[in-house]
Amino acid sequence: MKIIKKVLEIIFPNHCLSCEKIINRDGVFCEKCWSKLQFISEPKCQICSYPFEFQGLNLLCGKCLTKKPSFDKLITIFRYNHIIRKIVTSFKFRDQTFLAKKFAPLLFNKSRDEIMDCDFVISVPLHLKKLQQRKFNHSVLLAKTLLKLAPKKVFYSDFLIKTKNTKAQIELKKRDREKNLRSSFEVNKKYLTLLRGKKILLIDDVTTTGTTLESCAKILKKHGAKKVVALTIAKTAFTNS
Ligand SMILES: [Zn+2]
Ligand SMILES: [Zn+2]
Repeated sequence: MKIIKKVLEIIFPNHCLSCEKIINRDGVFCEKCWSKLQFISEPKCQICSYPFEFQGLNLLCGKCLTKKPSFDKLITIFRYNHIIRKIVTSFKFRDQTFLAKKFAPLLFNKSRDEIMDCDFVISVPLHLKKLQQRKFNHSVLLAKTLLKLAPKKVFYSDFLIKTKNTKAQIELKKRDREKNLRSSFEVNKKYLTLLRGKKILLIDDVTTTGTTLESCAKILKKHGAKKVVALTIAKTAFTNS
């Protein structure tokens, strides 16, 4: 088996996602790029993952203590830096299936308990116009690939509907983000009766301040969802104001 593995490595070398350097078959990044990644780990806010310098008595950050978000928890792997930006951008232009396969095990390891605990999985929707431009929704692909690792879980790609074609959140100033998304998500009518008392895992590729996830979670809770856990590859903004 070892010989077959070696031969495969020569014929189909595995490249670092960021710099293209050849790495071993099961790896995702080379050592150099790995050392530049900023993983989000403890100590952090138990709801929004805002990183703390020290583990104090508070389990929540000031922002979540002042106004609890509609989602119960945000699980995210990386801080969005130049390496993650490069990869997530190429997620849109390169072999997307390949990249989803690379991210799925990382997401699975980080959220195993929440995946097993949820009643079903959904993804952040794109407006129909944006979907036509981009050809596919990255979050749907990510969710489908992730659920190959938890095949018993049900995934609904059309659970939420984006009713307004809003500007990309990343282009907007903080105060305009909430306004931009206000009432722009709806629950697909055919699933309304499914929501009461349910625990939902909500998947998006990248989150900025969490405003999109907040809008989605808010509408899910409004229709009776008991728990909403959001899962993303990276988070861009870590301001806590
Ligand atoms: Zn590298
Ligand atoms: Zn927080």
